[in-house]
Amino acid sequence: MPDAVTTAARFRETVGGDPTGVWSAPGRVNLIGEHTDYNGGLALPIALPQRTYAAVRPRVDGRLRLHSDAARDPVDVALADVKPGTPGGWASYVAGVAWAVGEAGHPVGGLDVHVSSDVPVGAGLSSSAALECSVAAALSDLLGLGLLADDDGRATLAGWCQQAENVIAEAPTGGMDQAISMRAEPAHATLLDCRSGAVEQVPFDLAASGLALLVVDTRAEHALVDGQYAARRRSCERAAQILGVATLREIPVADLDDALRRLRDGELEARVRHVVTEIDRVEQCVAALRDGDFDAVGRLFVASHASLRDDYEVSCDELDVSVDTAMAHGALGARMTGGGFGGSAIALVRAESVAPTGAAVTDAFVRRRWTEPGCFAVTASAAAGRDS
Ligand code: ADP
Ligand code: MG
Repeated sequence: MPDAVTTAARFRETVGGDPTGVWSAPGRVNLIGEHTDYNGGLALPIALPQRTYAAVRPRVDGRLRLHSDAARDPVDVALADVKPGTPGGWASYVAGVAWAVGEAGHPVGGLDVHVSSDVPVGAGLSSSAALECSVAAALSDLLGLGLLADDDGRATLAGWCQQAENVIAEAPTGGMDQAISMRAEPAHATLLDCRSGAVEQVPFDLAASGLALLVVDTRAEHALVDGQYAARRRSCERAAQILGVATLREIPVADLDDALRRLRDGELEARVRHVVTEIDRVEQCVAALRDGDFDAVGRLFVASHASLRDDYEVSCDELDVSVDTAMAHGALGARMTGGGFGGSAIALVRAESVAPTGAAVTDAFVRRRWTEPGCFAVTASAAAGRDS
């Protein structure tokens, strides 16, 4: 498990000399509200205990020299050459942040960076945003921007990280991941309003109720950069256009049937039904959490999964088996989380059921000759910040 001390030590090995500091940012898991962010909707993620650490020192020659434990070769690129698709690969997420900060009027003179992380990569737990946000936190301090000091500043940093991912890494993600990595609070889920940009912290302390949140990393490949995610986005934009609204957020659940009748396209109807009912489920979930009604939370998880599987068509066998197995072993609720097509599922379980449920899911995977999943319990953790 990396931390500020081990990451600074790795910096001394790969870059040489001491870093100016070490900053870190968490991965995230979304409790509910999937594929809603780019529709101006609501999402309810938590920050994970797993974090990405960036040991950083400024340079004055306009170059980015980037090392990561997760990448075989370091990357050396001139900031002036950073553009959509360049430098490419993992370095785009880091270079993209430096680029976005520069675009916002705060020129970066160059950076030496070493990255260490225990956020599973490509598991739908947002290692990409954790990487971006660790670097953005560093730049805020190194350039004296002071943006970590309050939520407004953190929202600004999250916006730059989203730009980095959308423009330079060319992944058309919606903003939830960066927002939660920057704006989370420990022991809280964060209600994100992706239309207004507002956040509301909702107490989320499962242990106090004898419960736990189990994450199942299915290890099934998911790739946001590939066409499916972009295709879902396009369908939503087309439906909004037909319905004469800026985003699907404008369709209240009470008007759903009427909206569906006007679409006259089975696939678009299913996509819109998911988005509109999912936004409604987020609101219901927040109310249930505030009431401490975890049975209701669990039922909403199950309904969300069915909607993502049947209407939005972004689940896969590994996710369905994870959810079905957890439910068969007494989970209060379970669902896929993140963009889908692989990645991770979550299950709301009794604290004593974490190990047996994980074992049952693992067994179900082994019986099907799939790669063994990673199963671990998580608690709502802290946002990006400086560690040393
Ligand atoms: P997710 O965000 O769900 O993990 P993405 O496909 O959005 O999946 O982002 C994964 C990509 O982010 C990796 O392929 C890699 O390019 C980059 N990445 C994330 N974490 C690291 C890391 N610690 N070191 C290097 N690259 C990383
Ligand atoms: Mg990502």
